[in-house]
Amino acid sequence: MASFTCDRCGKCCVSLGQSIIIERQLNDRNYYCRSTIDNLFFSARVDPAFAEEIADEFLVQGDAPAGTYPKVCPFLRKVPGSDTTTCAIYATRPKICQSFTCYRMIIMDRNGNTCGRVIGKNTLRTDDPALEKLWQGLVVPIPSGNPAEWTRRVAAILADHGYHAKPVE
Ligand code: SF4
Ligand code: SF4
Repeated sequence: MASFTCDRCGKCCVSLGQSIIIERQLNDRNYYCRSTIDNLFFSARVDPAFAEEIADEFLVQGDAPAGTYPKVCPFLRKVPGSDTTTCAIYATRPKICQSFTCYRMIIMDRNGNTCGRVIGKNTLRTDDPALEKLWQGLVVPIPSGNPAEWTRRVAAILADHGYHAKPVE
């Protein structure tokens, strides 16, 4: 088993983030919030780098007609000077975000380098053309109804071709 590592790319925060609601601002960095997926309230503490930006936006959004702002998490922020995004409340992000895993399996090549990730039922993300071909030919046809059996069969096929599958916990 491999441990899931979130690289904070922010991709899931566009869809998952639609469920994150700021109920009220408590002070310059702290917000009382709710996640509508599990209907749990949580306290969010904003990274100082984004505190003013979020406070300003919160004030404006409070007066704006519904639907004015894009439906992404209010705490998703662009990293200054880069094209990437980050969570402005990462240390206090809600349970739903902490438990979310965007891939279920890592695939390593014969040198131990990560060369693929499996997301959803059986979608492969890889830059390795040989692995992609193998996946499409031998893995995609495997029924995914029984996850444990699917993992066992996929791991065996990959091992036969020099790859190592590590399910993510
Ligand atoms: S859970 Fe995955 S998609 Fe979401 S921010 Fe982390 S790495 Fe990106
Ligand atoms: S709270 Fe953070 S991790 Fe959760 S959806 Fe918003 S930006 Fe993403």
